[in-house]
Amino acid sequence: MPVDEENEVSDHTLAYSPFDVSDANDTGPLGHTVGSFVRETKSYWLGRIWVVKLAGRELFIGPHWYCSILMLVFILGVGIFHCSTVASATSDPLQLLGGLTVTSLSLISFLRCAFSDPGVLLKSPEDQMPNESTTANQRACSVCQVIQPRGCQHCHFCQVCILGHDHHCPWMGKCIGQKNLCAFYTFLTVAFSSLGYIMISALSMPTS
Ligand SMILES: [Zn+2]
Ligand SMILES: [Zn+2]
Repeated sequence: MPVDEENEVSDHTLAYSPFDVSDANDTGPLGHTVGSFVRETKSYWLGRIWVVKLAGRELFIGPHWYCSILMLVFILGVGIFHCSTVASATSDPLQLLGGLTVTSLSLISFLRCAFSDPGVLLKSPEDQMPNESTTANQRACSVCQVIQPRGCQHCHFCQVCILGHDHHCPWMGKCIGQKNLCAFYTFLTVAFSSLGYIMISALSMPTS
């Protein structure tokens, strides 16, 4: 895939985009046909989402990664505060264990969602065909040059089309879509349960 050097400097978004499948001959990480460029590199860009291959896994880091760091600090802050004050004040090892457990679960479910693939729609060979097959019910994205299935939407923050688009979540750094919706709701459930546990523990703490 030819890389325009000028674009690489000014706008890495499109310079590293695998949407150009003119030399495509392989199936990519998301099950679509993409260029060999994507397969060979350890990291690449999907719009403004940075995909890093680490220990055989692909981590999807969104454009609002700095909001995810704030969220991470908040989760750790609440957990450390709970363990250092409430749990230690009661001298109950179960309180400390509970605090560590809910903090760890919140952290794991958050990271699982924050690094997940939201369901980025890559360009397939059919998208390169003239619009003869495009019916009135099909929509095409003029930015990504792809035909959008039902429920797919282009995100102007992530600069990609997302399958089953739900919303763009800055706290997760990127979109919530078909592939990370379950992880997102799992995080919400775990996080609010953890927060509830911490609040109840704090309220039941002896006052003297
Ligand atoms: Zn698009
Ligand atoms: Zn987005």
